[in-house]
Amino acid sequence: MTHPREDRLLADIESRRDEAVALAQALIRIPTVNPPGDNYRDICELLGDRLANRGFEVEYVRAEGSPGDDDRFPRWNVIARREGKTPGPCVHFNSHIDVVEPGEGWTVDPFGGLARDGRVYGRGACDMKGGLAASVIAVEALLDAGVELPGAIEVSGTADEESGGYGGVAWLAERGWFSKPRVDHVIIPEPLNVDRVCIGHRGVWWGEIATEGRIAHGSMPFLGDSAIRHMGAVVEALEREAWPALDAHATAMPVEPPGARTPTLNINSIHGGQPDVEPGGGLPAPLVADACRLVFDRRLLIEEDLDEVKASMRALLDGLAQTRPGFRYRLRDLFEVRPTMTEPERPVVRQTAEAVRRVLGRPAKLICSPGTYDQKHIDRIGHLRDCIAYGPGILDLAHQPDEYVEIDDMVQSAKVMALSAYALLTGAA
Ligand SMILES: [Zn+2]
Repeated sequence: MTHPREDRLLADIESRRDEAVALAQALIRIPTVNPPGDNYRDICELLGDRLANRGFEVEYVRAEGSPGDDDRFPRWNVIARREGKTPGPCVHFNSHIDVVEPGEGWTVDPFGGLARDGRVYGRGACDMKGGLAASVIAVEALLDAGVELPGAIEVSGTADEESGGYGGVAWLAERGWFSKPRVDHVIIPEPLNVDRVCIGHRGVWWGEIATEGRIAHGSMPFLGDSAIRHMGAVVEALEREAWPALDAHATAMPVEPPGARTPTLNINSIHGGQPDVEPGGGLPAPLVADACRLVFDRRLLIEEDLDEVKASMRALLDGLAQTRPGFRYRLRDLFEVRPTMTEPERPVVRQTAEAVRRVLGRPAKLICSPGTYDQKHIDRIGHLRDCIAYGPGILDLAHQPDEYVEIDDMVQSAKVMALSAYALLTGAA
């Protein structure tokens, strides 16, 4: 069976290759580094002006009072919406506009947007200004396809994903921007490879365990009680009980890489005793530590219940309190996100997977992400299940020096996004 209209659309996107590169470059050249959250208004206006020219109604929304928002670093978001002539569903492309700081080790200008050997380089090229550019090209080509599209198309650029999304998608979701009836399907062009459709992510629980001791002179430790030794017992108990239990879980989540298909537990830090006099030098005062603090990062699968995970951590610590003389602890929550996974039968998953097959000539791989992204807010706050991440670029390159996006991947993913949106809007497959 042939699809002349779709074939024309794909050829048209192919011819916009240089435009996709130019847009990615323009986005990279605005250094939207977070923290602190620089230049958000500028990048929002670049997007807003461009889409306003194509008949979009553009709104700039500042997340006033969100973390980090002040007059110097206002948390601006842009949402552009274009209504079709007839009623129908709304397809929304959401990209975060912020990037992490460039760091060391670059051989090119991180904000130069250099295009060379089929790649565009720069901080955010892959995560995720390449994906944002691809989605804009996809939408513009759709509008030029000469078809009356029902429903509505939305494109948003949102703040602060790299710091949790509280001044971006979370803030907007709390105010109805990511819920029905306004929005039906959301595609987030995060860099997860052109042939993979990401349907969700694992959950997170960051917690802090503090042990207490009694201070004494280091020459007479028997007069005190070491919080560091108590923490040693915690680590030993984690080794004995917590880590072996992680492997016992089976999951329906197709997490990539496969090593993340079990829950994971990391100890991010341990601090105890007196501080070193100066970094890298000097000796800490010779005292028995009266306090020790451990921060852990526990990642959860969809089959796990966060409350049960917390209860078993508490049971482990209570066990120590009962058996180990002098053991006292505090357990504090620092951050938590529940796991989320969209059902593979949902139209946005099916149509995007079908578009991947059509454009690339191979089946799409459905995956889940080991870490979280803004889908959590769309699911938990917006109560919208129909959300995926799909976009160009390789996640491994994100946050690295010499980050880049392949131009071919941008063009191919734009084709996939256009076909998927077309199918979702018109009900045609
Ligand atoms: Zn990202």
